[in-house]
Amino acid sequence: MIKQKKQGQLIVISGPSGAGKDTIVEKVIKKNENIWLSVSATSRKIRKGEKEGVNYFYLTKEEFEERIDNNYFLEYAMYADNYYGTPKEEIIKKLDKGIDVILVIEIEGAKKIKELVPEALFIFILPPSEKELLKRLSGRQTEDKEKIIKRFNIAYQEINEVTKYNYVVVNDDLDEAVSKVESIIKAEKCRVDRIEEMLVSNKEELIHEFLMDEEFDNSLISEKIKEEI
Ligand code: 5GP
Repeated sequence: MIKQKKQGQLIVISGPSGAGKDTIVEKVIKKNENIWLSVSATSRKIRKGEKEGVNYFYLTKEEFEERIDNNYFLEYAMYADNYYGTPKEEIIKKLDKGIDVILVIEIEGAKKIKELVPEALFIFILPPSEKELLKRLSGRQTEDKEKIIKRFNIAYQEINEVTKYNYVVVNDDLDEAVSKVESIIKAEKCRVDRIEEMLVSNKEELIHEFLMDEEFDNSLISEKIKEEI
């Protein structure tokens, strides 16, 4: 009856640092084979526990700027004095293959994606409270206090941008938040603007076959309907 777009869905997930976006996305990816998480490039230092090519591609500032000049990024932004950017090539390939792609990026980057791909899906993840956010940020112990305060200040500003997104998910219960994100992605697939084509059915043929079916008594069909057929 309908043919839906084969193209994968581009999903942008933002939220203040410490809201738990990465943990949510990790779980969503594990449960859904058809969703791919884009690995960004950054000029920030690698943190303890992170891996090259898994969390980020770690570049020097100069390397990053060279790639900007070479049009390597779909979008990039400066965040807490470091560059972050989304490599373009693999994303286009994945979307063309019908695979959904998640970008976990900050707000300036998300705004650029909105301009480039207005039909992308924008989800904002919020922590349950500001107090909990500060607790989560300081609990990481991967950064000094000054950096934590800087991130907390940025997070505060970011929260005001929530209304620019399509959906908001409060992460007070991890499993519940994961389930909400999955449901949003599923619902998005059913949007009518993902219909590429309405397929013309062979209506007359179907009615004819139905009339020929001997299980039914055709004498009960009114003359008017017969004429229409
Ligand atoms: P973190 O240093 O905590 O890993 O990331 C800092 C912020 O940069 C987070 O909000 C994260 O989502 C965002 N970020 C990560 N990759 C990208 C990217 O490719 N582009 C943009 N614009 N932001 C990114």
